[in-house]
Amino acid sequence: MSFQQQLELYPQNEIRQLIDSATPQRIDQALRRQRLSIEDFACLLSPQLSDDQLELMAGQAHQITSRRFGRIILLYAPLYLSNECHNGCKYCGFNADNHLPRKTLSLTEVEREARILRANGFRHMLLLTGEAPESAGIDYLEKAVKIVKTHCGSVSIEVFPMDTDGYRRMVAAGVDGLTVYQETYDADLYKKLHPYGPKSDYNYRLETPERAGEAGFRRIGVGSLLGLGDCLTDVFSTGLHALYLARRFWRTQVTISFPRLCAAEGGFQPNSIVSDRQLTQFICALRLLIPDAGLLLSTRESTALRDNLLPLGITQMSAGSCTAPGGYGDDVQDAEQFSINDDRSPAEIVKLLHSRGYEAVWKDWDTAFLNKAS
Ligand code: SF4
Repeated sequence: MSFQQQLELYPQNEIRQLIDSATPQRIDQALRRQRLSIEDFACLLSPQLSDDQLELMAGQAHQITSRRFGRIILLYAPLYLSNECHNGCKYCGFNADNHLPRKTLSLTEVEREARILRANGFRHMLLLTGEAPESAGIDYLEKAVKIVKTHCGSVSIEVFPMDTDGYRRMVAAGVDGLTVYQETYDADLYKKLHPYGPKSDYNYRLETPERAGEAGFRRIGVGSLLGLGDCLTDVFSTGLHALYLARRFWRTQVTISFPRLCAAEGGFQPNSIVSDRQLTQFICALRLLIPDAGLLLSTRESTALRDNLLPLGITQMSAGSCTAPGGYGDDVQDAEQFSINDDRSPAEIVKLLHSRGYEAVWKDWDTAFLNKAS
C-alpha cells in the first residue's frame, strides 16, 4: 500500500474528530502505553491535554531520547545554492511573484561557502534550492554535491522533487539525506497555496519520500509547515507519514522537522499561530510515537524556545544559519528565504549544549551507525 492510499483511510475531518474526542482518561491511557497506536498518538495531540499530562509526556520523551540517542545533538548548517524558483508557494519569500535578487551560486561560490562552514566546524551540510532546473538542476547539483563532499562528511538536500532515477544520481554523488516537507496534508488547501508551478501537483509531492526511499537515501526527512492549515491534522498526518516510511524503509532513518510560520512572515498571514506549548506537545508526542526518529529544530525558532526544547527529544539543530545563497561569504540580506530568530554563532551553541550536559556532534554519526548495522 502506498502512503497516498494509507492517508485516504484518514479523511481530514475524521482525524480532527479522533483528536477532539480524546477524554482525559483516554489521554492517561495513551500515556501508559509502551508503544503508541496511531489512535493513542491522536489523543496526545489533543488540546485537552492538561499541564500535568504534558509534563509527564515531556519526561517520557526525554527518557526515550536519552536512551536511544544519548546526550548528543548533531549540528548542521543550511547552504543555499539558489533562490531561483518557478513555483508560486504563497507563504515563501522565494516564490516566483516576489521581486528579490535571484542568484544561483557558481561552483566557485559553492566551494567558498562550504569552506567557510567547514572553518566554523560543520561536517554536515544541507544543500537547498528552489525549483529552476535550467539553472540549478540535477547536473548542477551533482557537481555541487561533489565539491561540498570534499569539505564535509555528510550532505543532505532539500531541493525540488525528482524521479527515482534522479534520486539515484544524488545518492551516487554522495548525498545521504533528503528533506521534503509536504507543507500541508490538506489537499484542497494545498491546491490554493500552490497555485502554479510543478509543486502544485500534490500527489507527486506526497509520493516523493517513497521515491527517495527506493533510491536508497540513508535519511529521509518529512514535516508540515505549521500554521498553514489545521496544525493538529497536519501533525497527525506527518506522524502517520513518518511511521509509514520508517516501517517500509527500515534501513533508512526518518527525521521530522517542525517549521512554524510566524505572523505576517513575508506578508503571508498564517491560518493559525502555533503556540510554544503546542509545539512542545507535538515534539513530545512524535517522540513517543517513533522513538528512533531524528527530530530537528532550526534557527527559525527563538533562542529561548530552542534552549527549552533541547532535552525533550531534539536530536539535530542548525546553527549560525543564513537563508540566502552566498550568505556566508557576502552580505545578501535582501535575498533571504525567511528570517532566523536564533542568531547565535555555532561556537555559542556548542557552549550552550555543554552547559546543559550535551555534546555537540559535527560529523555524521548517523551514517557511521547505519553502516555498522548494514
Ligand atoms: S517553498 Fe520552495 S518551491 Fe515554494 S516558492 Fe519557496 S523555494 Fe520555491
